Amino acid sequence: PCITICSGSACHASGSKEVASRIEEEIANQGLSGTVDVRKTGCHGFCEKGPIIVIHPEKICYFQIKPEDVSEIVTETIIGKKIIERLLYTDPATNEKIVYESEIPFYKNQERLVFGSNGSIDPKNLDDYLAIGGYSALAKALFQMTPGQVVEEVKKSNLRGRGGGGFPAGSKWEGSRNAPGDIKYVIVNADEGDPGAYMDRSLLEGNPHSVLEGLTIGAYAVGSHEGYIYVRQEYPLAVENVTTAIKQAQEYGLLGKNILGSGFDFTVKVHMGAGAFVCGESTALMTALEGRAGEPRPKYIRSNVKGLWNRPSVLNNVETWSNVPLIINNGADWFTKLGTESSKGTKIFSVVGKINNTGLVEVPMGMTLRDIIYKIGGGIPGGKKFKAVQTGGPSGGCLPEELLDLQVGFDELTKAGSMMGSGGMIVLDEDTCMVDVARYFLEFLTDESCGKCVPCREGIRQMLQTLTKITQGKGKEGDIELLEELAETAREAALCALGKSAPNPFLSTLKYFRNEYEAHIKEKR
Ligand code: SF4
Repeated sequence: PCITICSGSACHASGSKEVASRIEEEIANQGLSGTVDVRKTGCHGFCEKGPIIVIHPEKICYFQIKPEDVSEIVTETIIGKKIIERLLYTDPATNEKIVYESEIPFYKNQERLVFGSNGSIDPKNLDDYLAIGGYSALAKALFQMTPGQVVEEVKKSNLRGRGGGGFPAGSKWEGSRNAPGDIKYVIVNADEGDPGAYMDRSLLEGNPHSVLEGLTIGAYAVGSHEGYIYVRQEYPLAVENVTTAIKQAQEYGLLGKNILGSGFDFTVKVHMGAGAFVCGESTALMTALEGRAGEPRPKYIRSNVKGLWNRPSVLNNVETWSNVPLIINNGADWFTKLGTESSKGTKIFSVVGKINNTGLVEVPMGMTLRDIIYKIGGGIPGGKKFKAVQTGGPSGGCLPEELLDLQVGFDELTKAGSMMGSGGMIVLDEDTCMVDVARYFLEFLTDESCGKCVPCREGIRQMLQTLTKITQGKGKEGDIELLEELAETAREAALCALGKSAPNPFLSTLKYFRNEYEAHIKEKR
């Protein structure tokens, strides 16, 4: 048997480290060392219920484990093969206890292609990754495909960037591959800064080799020999695990000179960000990598042609790179079977806020918001009514109840006035004031604006001041029109995506909840 213990940041915060130590002690005390494998894995996703352990091969799930539960788990379940009812998941709909992971609604309704291995492998152990077929896609790319064929396969898969813009990854790679110059770069954007979002953090913490493998395949495809992982310094476990993964890959000949004897050379460096949200923007990130203040620059020429140090540079986020080995191994046709017409594959969302099952979920593109929130998320706590869901991070938008049957996809969300972003999903209940929500996100973006251009530096600030007055009951006639004008100016004239999309929380709440703005203003009069 094997016991996997979720050791991602969320479970760590709820005490998984002590649980893991107690399990190791108990296994040793009961003379089971060498018989029972104890494995500290990455995030299992159901963060609401941490610390989580899963007992294999049956996949018996125990939730919210305390150190004092450990001795009973080992004696009763590992040795005695009996289930401990009180540690099982209780389905709130039926009040029934559920034993196996595959039967728990939170997991049952997901399609965990990218994220699934997080719960079964030790991210610090390369052998675990190799055992699930890790680096076989790299070997296939290096020995069975030309760089051009790799680009074609990724293009054919229609993989779109999971970091926000949804730009087709294959076209980006092709642009870099065809761009002149011998020096090219590939970069992982792990500067995930959206409030409530932690998909990339969990992937880097839980399965760093999958990101490295995808990055190395990308490097081979575009002709790059140097890569960077730009990761927030606020993610210490992600930094630690990816640094360890790089060292291991180098020792095994999976990175460095003459990878696997193929003649292809590629090295990767980790660069820690200094905490600025705007550095998640592609040009700001590259400027920061160059050692300068992380401010965006105009995109007269795309960065895949002229990016880092003016060289062709492919920047994709963590989740996008993690999809690459799956596409190379299984083929583009397999990948395009999942999803909608324009959004293929799966997407990981961090579902948080007023929802019963907080956590990370991976679903096929095209699943409805309703299914994510109710079937997987378990609905709204305390019998309250759903009011809206904010998707796409601070630059996204709020979607109301009448759009619950909207299919999640890049274009579908944008059309509705929100966006996919990197996959943040904040659920709001009937007690939420939507003007307050817009004000909260505007405040975040005002703090994070780099100040380089006026429409964002001054315009967003003025929007925040006006929204604050409205929420304080000091709003006046004409405020909504003023906000609309400022929003339009920022959208049109701001230099980077932060400023251009900053009005989204206001515009979407105004579109769907205008009555709340009017009520606040009327209240005062
Ligand atoms: Fe800086 Fe905002 Fe202008 Fe972007 S839009 S460059 S964040 S001031």
